[in-house]
Amino acid sequence: EHSSPAQTEFYQAVEEVLDSLRPILENDEIYRHQAIIERLVEPERQIMFRVPWVNDAGEIQVNKGYRIEFNSALGPYKGGLRFHPSVNASIIKFLGFEQVFKNALTGLPLGAGKGGANFDPKGKSDAEIMRFCQSFMNEMYRHLGPTIDVPAGDIGVGAREIGYLFGQYKRLSGRYDGVLTGKSLLWGGSLARREATGYGCAYFAQYMLEAKGDSLAGKRCLVSGAGNVAIYAIEKLYQLGALPITCSDSSGTLYHADGINLDTLKNVKEVRKARLNIYLDSHPDAKFIPASEYPEDGHAVWRIPGDLAFPCATQNELSAADAETLLGNGCIGVAEGANMPTTQEAADLFLDAKICFGPGKAANAGGVSVSQLEMAQNASMQYWSFDEVDRRLKEIMARIYRNTSETAKEFGEPHNLVLGANIAGFRRVADAMIEQGVV
Ligand code: NDP
Repeated sequence: EHSSPAQTEFYQAVEEVLDSLRPILENDEIYRHQAIIERLVEPERQIMFRVPWVNDAGEIQVNKGYRIEFNSALGPYKGGLRFHPSVNASIIKFLGFEQVFKNALTGLPLGAGKGGANFDPKGKSDAEIMRFCQSFMNEMYRHLGPTIDVPAGDIGVGAREIGYLFGQYKRLSGRYDGVLTGKSLLWGGSLARREATGYGCAYFAQYMLEAKGDSLAGKRCLVSGAGNVAIYAIEKLYQLGALPITCSDSSGTLYHADGINLDTLKNVKEVRKARLNIYLDSHPDAKFIPASEYPEDGHAVWRIPGDLAFPCATQNELSAADAETLLGNGCIGVAEGANMPTTQEAADLFLDAKICFGPGKAANAGGVSVSQLEMAQNASMQYWSFDEVDRRLKEIMARIYRNTSETAKEFGEPHNLVLGANIAGFRRVADAMIEQGVV
């Protein structure tokens, strides 16, 4: 029953999960007797708060802040903070709900949470970003702790924001605790955390293809997004022998048939923090499609022919019409770097076509996994090398792939990794909840 009808994204995520849990709920009565679903869909705690701050013109601004502590059966609440004008309770709730299953699937000691604010970092000065982060933490700090709740970054929250948030946490609490991940390498961050989600997504695609006797070598890859996840998915795709030919941001889509030049992309997005069309200054042979020219029923990036698709920008960015075009163009696999980037109808089309489809819960779990490695390094006051973290990430992604595909086989739908990921994640968190009693 939709008791608060505005939570569209949350219901979308819940419906998708419940749909694939049907076989296990029908087989195992214990989950029904224990009211596991009723308990799982209700967050343990939702914190909503005012974030007042003063802009450079001296005007008082007010944003809405959120932290949803969804489930702590497997460990401290863990999940990112998103700063984007579209943020609302439904979006944070859907992200938190997805996080429960994703974190369970990693096999690591991680509970699940998600948070953020409807704050738009675009066009804000450094000083404004800092004052916003400090005000956000003035409320958040009382809810955090290295064994309580440990947020990370997400859209609009990168190393700079994590730095300002941590500084304020330390000032308010007087403690040098590992209460955030994605920290700077100078003071507690983990090597390869920045790269982890994108790298992990490429590894996951490689495992899906290997299971079919294929590989990434020579594959033309369509990537959307041009942020943290997209850039490092592109980097690892190159390392694994593939050819990424697109990326996108909210202003438009970039198509470079010879392959996206990674150095230029990093320079445009990480150094100059500019719009993607600047890329054409150094690569006039590339093509830029402004968002105003996108097809009405979808996204230009999926209309370009390619072998594999990596949606790495945001939710619902790949529509049913996009999926039809991809399939028509011979696409053989999709790995979700973003959370719920594929609409339910589009995902059904991929599953019906029996192409490789890696759902975000599995394919983008590399980020939270390396966040856990960052927590482990902080707790033991150690730093591991880049290669050490990357090796562990690769192992974790292999385990996630195995767990997902074996569960899909166990339930008689070997190609359906959505079902595999949802059931595998569900079983671990549900069994933990049962053992911990009715709490
Ligand atoms: P970033 O903020 O670094 O990058 C996001 C990218 O997506 C930017 O290029 C942005 O363009 C684009 N984008 C965001 N929203 C929209 C929109 N509404 N329409 C069009 N383009 C959009 O975020 P991340 O790379 O960290 O996150 C991307 C996705 O991956 C999200 O779904 C996130 O939840 C998910 N994810 C991230 C993890 C991480 O470790 N960072 C871990 C697991 C999942 P522009 O800059 O122009 O807005």
